[in-house]
Amino acid sequence: MALIDDKTELFIIESCKQSHGVIKADLVNQLTSQLNCDVESLQQALLPIAAKFAQAPISSFYVGAVIFDKITGNMYFGANLEFKHQALSLVVHAEQAAINNAWINGAKEITTIAINAAPCGFCRQFMNELSTAGTLEILLPTGRYSLEELLPCDFGPKDLGNQEALMAKSAEQVEISLPISEQLKEQVRLAYVPYSKNMSAAELVLTDGRVFYGRYAENAAYSPSLSPMSSVLSQLALAGETLADAKVERVTLVETKGCENQKAVAEAVLTNLNGDSSLLHHVFETK
Ligand SMILES: [Zn+2]
Repeated sequence: MALIDDKTELFIIESCKQSHGVIKADLVNQLTSQLNCDVESLQQALLPIAAKFAQAPISSFYVGAVIFDKITGNMYFGANLEFKHQALSLVVHAEQAAINNAWINGAKEITTIAINAAPCGFCRQFMNELSTAGTLEILLPTGRYSLEELLPCDFGPKDLGNQEALMAKSAEQVEISLPISEQLKEQVRLAYVPYSKNMSAAELVLTDGRVFYGRYAENAAYSPSLSPMSSVLSQLALAGETLADAKVERVTLVETKGCENQKAVAEAVLTNLNGDSSLLHHVFETK
């Protein structure tokens, strides 16, 4: 495996913080050239760095995941995020974080995901919602696997009659008449919600002006769905901000009238933010 020296590691960490967990194609190319390695070797060499973005106050088990997107040429980090004093079911797994990161930041076709530990059953199910689930290659310390090998006899979107897939869905053409940013409206339109139909997204603004977004990503097995608030907090973590220290100015959650299901869980995970974590909650009506 390619070895990354300390100076290069620091540079990658800073670059990742600035781009909210994205290793842009230029840097990917620079690193493969500098380390004289291929893309997959680089993905695996980056895993210990991705794992540094994990916040695991409960397990102290730091998981890193690195996705490569064939279309943009970018890599996307993921790391686990645990919430103190909340139900364990609310944590964000590293694989979810990486897929969410890729999705939020415009990846089109995830071809490989490297992980520094075997994915749990929950994550295998989360990956099964991807548009590329049939061709995805999973790079583990023990070797290379297809999702079919890791999740035989699967239950997936088609079992519920859903023809859509995560990463392949385009924005819904809906009017959103709310006093929120245009960027947040677009995130709401891009939510992947084939089961509950609750188009939902979150925006988190820091006092220094940086803005983060999260979208609702549902799953055919329901429980592995990623809530918009967990999604945005994961993005915050991949920018190197710890939940306890981030200086948050405001958090906004948008849901679809008649389908709301996110307010309680959003308030629960927000208790991990320091200071005022009160939530601006908006509901819009689809015409
Ligand atoms: Zn997992």
